[in-house]
Amino acid sequence: LLITNVTLNNSKLITMAIKITEECINCGACEPECPNNAIYEGGVEWAISDGTSAKGSFVLMDGSEMDADQKNAPLSTDTYYIVPNKCTECQGFHEEPQCAAVCPVDCCVSDEAYEEAVDALTAKKAKLHG
Ligand code: SF4
Ligand code: SF4
Repeated sequence: LLITNVTLNNSKLITMAIKITEECINCGACEPECPNNAIYEGGVEWAISDGTSAKGSFVLMDGSEMDADQKNAPLSTDTYYIVPNKCTECQGFHEEPQCAAVCPVDCCVSDEAYEEAVDALTAKKAKLHG
């Protein structure tokens, strides 16, 4: 019973996507560590399907839909950036955000604009890699 309760509590835990701040020194260390290919170099276009198995129409966090192969404008041109719709805080892959673990200047931080429950992050991971 105790274990069940812990599991239920964890599934409701509110956590956040990770963002990269302007302190980024563009070292590139984080990019290959992301299991969702959610990290892009500044100025590079992003797509849901990059590094994932998502195909066709993909429902975004705001409920809108986008073709998984659609190329989108970079979210930053000066520094590396993270696509919130692809970041799962490494749920289902690692115990802690890998970008934050490797960043030499600690500029991968929680993005308060994107609070999500752990089960929502797990569902996002399933959609990206289903
Ligand atoms: Fe990628 Fe994990 Fe960093 Fe999110 S927290 S950007 S999933 S490495
Ligand atoms: Fe920027 Fe940190 Fe990623 Fe290096 S590891 S590119 S400093 S966010």
